[in-house]
Amino acid sequence: MAECEECGSRQVEAAVVEGVEVEVCGLCDHVQGEARNVALVAERREAAERGFHRTIYPLVKSLEQVRTFTVDGASAGRPETGEYPFVFLRLAPDGLKDLERLLTSLEMANHHTQRRWVVECSLQRGLLFILRPRFWKPVLAIDAQDIREARADLPLLARTIARDLGLTWWGQGPAGS
Ligand SMILES: [Zn+2]
Repeated sequence: MAECEECGSRQVEAAVVEGVEVEVCGLCDHVQGEARNVALVAERREAAERGFHRTIYPLVKSLEQVRTFTVDGASAGRPETGEYPFVFLRLAPDGLKDLERLLTSLEMANHHTQRRWVVECSLQRGLLFILRPRFWKPVLAIDAQDIREARADLPLLARTIARDLGLTWWGQGPAGS
């Protein structure tokens, strides 16, 4: 039987936490196991604490790495009601260049996504940018399958943006900032 890395107890048992298979200490609640899974539990707990659905949270985190972006709300969508996933973004005054870079990343991601992702702009207490999927059909015709397909794109979008942020053309690496 495994030993708790935190308190040394042997009351460590296999458990599913936040939908992830890990080991939990019965004495101190410490979560351990495969590093990737432990990190996923931490990320999902953080998402819950901040009130984000776990499937949209990696994308929120990626966008929050951009200095000129502020995430002003996000939803993973609701298949039951036809509400599509979205992220609301606010831009710092010097954020247009980053918006252009985001659109460049989206262009590339859109080759692999099930839905085409766009950024819309609207006026809501200042400029609000909305990252969302496009459906090419009337709002009332958007069905649960559309929403599920759009939701399935979220991890890919998060990965693409996180990756591009580290590339020189985005220019926001530790060296460039
Ligand atoms: Zn322990």
